[in-house]
Amino acid sequence: MKIHNDELTIQSIKGIGEETAQQFNQMGINSVLDLLEYLPYRYEDYRLRDLEEVAHDERVTVEGKVHSEPSLMYYGKKKSRLTVRVLVGRYLIQAVFFNQPYLKKKMALHDIVTVTGRWDKNRQVITVQHFQAGPHNKEGDFEPVYSLKGNVKNNTLSKFIKKAFDEYSYLVSENLPAVLLGKYKLMSREEALYQLHFPDSPSGMKQARRRFVYEEFLLFQLKMQALRKFEREHSSGIQQHYDVGKIKSFTDSLPFPLTGAQKRVVNEISADMKSPYRMNRLLQGDVGSGKTVVAAIALFSSVTAGYQGALMVPTEILAEQHAESMSELLSPAGLSVALLTSSVKGKRRKLLLEKLKEGEVDILIGTHALIQDDVEFKSLGLVVTDEQHRFGVNQRRVLREKGKSPDVLFMTATPIPRTLAITVFGEMDVSIIDEMPAGRKAIETYWAKADMLPRVLTFMDKELDQGRQAYVICPLIEESDKLDVQNAIDVYNQLLVYFEGRYNVGLMHGRLHPDEKDDVMRQFSSNNLQVLVSTTVVEVGVNVPNATFMLIYDAERFGLSQLHQLRGRVGRGEDQSYCILLAEPKTEVGKERMKIMTETNDGFVLSEKDLELRGPGDFFGKKQSGLPEFQVADMVHDYRALEVARDDAASLINSESFWKDPEWERLRSFLAESGIMEGEKLD
Ligand code: ADP
Ligand code: MG
Repeated sequence: MKIHNDELTIQSIKGIGEETAQQFNQMGINSVLDLLEYLPYRYEDYRLRDLEEVAHDERVTVEGKVHSEPSLMYYGKKKSRLTVRVLVGRYLIQAVFFNQPYLKKKMALHDIVTVTGRWDKNRQVITVQHFQAGPHNKEGDFEPVYSLKGNVKNNTLSKFIKKAFDEYSYLVSENLPAVLLGKYKLMSREEALYQLHFPDSPSGMKQARRRFVYEEFLLFQLKMQALRKFEREHSSGIQQHYDVGKIKSFTDSLPFPLTGAQKRVVNEISADMKSPYRMNRLLQGDVGSGKTVVAAIALFSSVTAGYQGALMVPTEILAEQHAESMSELLSPAGLSVALLTSSVKGKRRKLLLEKLKEGEVDILIGTHALIQDDVEFKSLGLVVTDEQHRFGVNQRRVLREKGKSPDVLFMTATPIPRTLAITVFGEMDVSIIDEMPAGRKAIETYWAKADMLPRVLTFMDKELDQGRQAYVICPLIEESDKLDVQNAIDVYNQLLVYFEGRYNVGLMHGRLHPDEKDDVMRQFSSNNLQVLVSTTVVEVGVNVPNATFMLIYDAERFGLSQLHQLRGRVGRGEDQSYCILLAEPKTEVGKERMKIMTETNDGFVLSEKDLELRGPGDFFGKKQSGLPEFQVADMVHDYRALEVARDDAASLINSESFWKDPEWERLRSFLAESGIMEGEKLD
């Protein structure tokens, strides 16, 4: 992140003419400052190491004496293998060079050579990637590697950066005030930049990197925190003066005590509702962690404060299920709960809308039918949306605009790694239910290879024989992907034959009409179907507690988070549930994923793992990731620094001194330049 762009062009540096300048421009380097701040993306490490300490398959550089005549062997047309014995300390090892026959002339018996390559500890062989005649050259044995374009060479770039430093280092100015540099013992910006380009040592580079990681995160978090403050101060939300006594007797009337995590998030939500700010809160909780009850308490609170509440879900069947469970919870407490879906039509719909407008309906539950123009509330206080990632930003906004700044609670069962939550939702408040209700039986998950299918089916039979139901999931990556639908249809046909005369098998996929989908789901729900073959469309929170068995075909094609979501369809009743992953992963990462699934039921652990294995870009899918890009920092590995920066940014933004003292001037102007505060408060 750049604070200001200097106008001195790179041609001001001796040796950079028109042509070189053009090449540099293509790499985004226009000014001298651009050049100074063009950072390497990794380092080449050629430092000598003692073979004793090098692990098998690690890359290593060693210096030694040639101990045999090099022997060259050709195979195939252009392929060759050059082998030589080298005495390295007390190790007599073999160095192997592939397809570099010309190196034979560069080494003779008793010569000193330096080689870099993979160390095969068992066979005592180095497969050489980099050869240097003569002793190890200490200079440049730890080298930055830049990303390059066109004809620009790493060395050339490095040389010009050096020149730029010699003449123009004064262009690098400090972004962080002395208090912060002192607090974290950070290098000055200029020194750190120099160390990144010309490291004295790996530890010098690390210190320099640490400084930039903090700076990048701090600037980013300042923006997020300022945005949040700005949003809060400019949103005139409603203060919901709920009735604490009534809420307490409501929670006491529940069939179970709240978990500690549920209590905590209820408090977080209540504080927001009572405050004059408009709540903008994300509630995260794993499948089955009890988000519905939390939503019910929040909706109940809103009603005790004299408002109405709305709960919006992505599908009709979910709306029905929610309406049922909300009625069970809220009707005994005297609230009137109504359901509005597309199947509520004509006179019934008209009547319902009238009651809503009169304030005779307390809680309205439905799909996006809730945000149609003719749906008017008397006084909407709280909007809850379930499975928020399924709704578009626009739909959420329209719903919010239905009331006069109602509070909004987004619920999601897709655990977003903490790491991403504080970046992606940096301007939102996040509540997390990280505790499961007591006594829940963990789903047992097994990984099976394709040839074990007959045994898996026998297992499934046994569950069905006990009166239970089963899901069979086939991969569907894109809803329009014909091949994948075919896959589900094939499996469905096979199972029809397999269970013929014994159990009813249903089929569900994204190409069915919504009415057909609901129909299939209802039949499964009422146990008219015992086996449901489906693509991932069942992923969204349907609840059939009698389903205790899930078989997932080609499980390696799903991400961890998605597998976890799917698995969450079972294990919802009292009985032990099972999930079988049928998979033949080809890669190590794929195997690792299957293994982790069998080891944990914790959605947060899985999402962190998923992030680690896939990288932040892939986690949400590239297109919609909206993740910030950092030059030096890595959101996953530098997570601790991110937290520190967030806390620092939050307290700065909320302090008086940040907005007036000269030492924060630089960071203030950064905020002003990024347009966040729209000039507000900046005097
Ligand atoms: P989700 O977070 O997936 O929406 P639900 O709210 O549907 O989870 O809760 C799953 C099940 O757990 C429901 O049957 C609910 O009644 C039950 N439940 C919720 N909270 C508790 C609790 N504190 N103790 C025991 N059971 C609970
Ligand atoms: Mg739910």
